Amino acid sequence: MDSASGIGGEVDNWNIDIVLGGSQKCLSATPGLSFMSISEKTWQKILKRKQPIAGFYVNLALWKNWYNEKLFPYTQPISDLYALDTAIDNVLAEGDSRYERHSKIAEAVRQSLVSAGLQLYPLEGYSNTVTSVIIPEETNFNDIFKIMLNEHGILIAGAFDILKDKVFRIGHMGENCEVDKVFITLRALNYTLLSLGIELKAKMHEEFSKLV
Ligand SMILES: *Cc1c(COP(=O)(O)O)cnc(C)c1O
Repeated sequence: MDSASGIGGEVDNWNIDIVLGGSQKCLSATPGLSFMSISEKTWQKILKRKQPIAGFYVNLALWKNWYNEKLFPYTQPISDLYALDTAIDNVLAEGDSRYERHSKIAEAVRQSLVSAGLQLYPLEGYSNTVTSVIIPEETNFNDIFKIMLNEHGILIAGAFDILKDKVFRIGHMGENCEVDKVFITLRALNYTLLSLGIELKAKMHEEFSKLV
């Protein structure tokens, strides 16, 4: 499972074999590191393979005890590791309220967008770290993206493949999942859409303020 935008936000007890994460999203450390969490069941599969694993770097079995054995198949990115260590300390210090912070802000983002008349994607099963919004028919991603960036200094993400030009994404994870940061994003989005001639049923940033 690719959980680049989930780890540090909401991954636990999900019966996943291998979870991949990145340092730069929910954990809000410097970009540069990726890591994986491997379930015990999956380790047994890997270690008991009859056919030897051909690769060296891609052989997970080699990495299982690398730290204790001080086996360093590549140069350690020390500064990134220090940053990650600090980021994880921050996560642990925040404790369970971290989950509440993400779920409260995410819920408020979704409700404010819907109150303004926008439609979310998908229709259910939302993530608490990122919200995808269907681009109103009257406009397109490029126009929203350009106004958000050039007039408001905020970078929003589009999508790939079948969702390209159909949805845009608002990240609200880690250090970005704070009331003030999300508020200015929604206010910018509100005025961007208005300037593109989209009729909104409510001011999304004001709706957001009422909920958080
Ligand atoms: C950000 C993200 C990626 C890309 O991560 P990079 O470190 O930029 O390559 C992949 N998958 C998901 C789900 C992401 O959120």
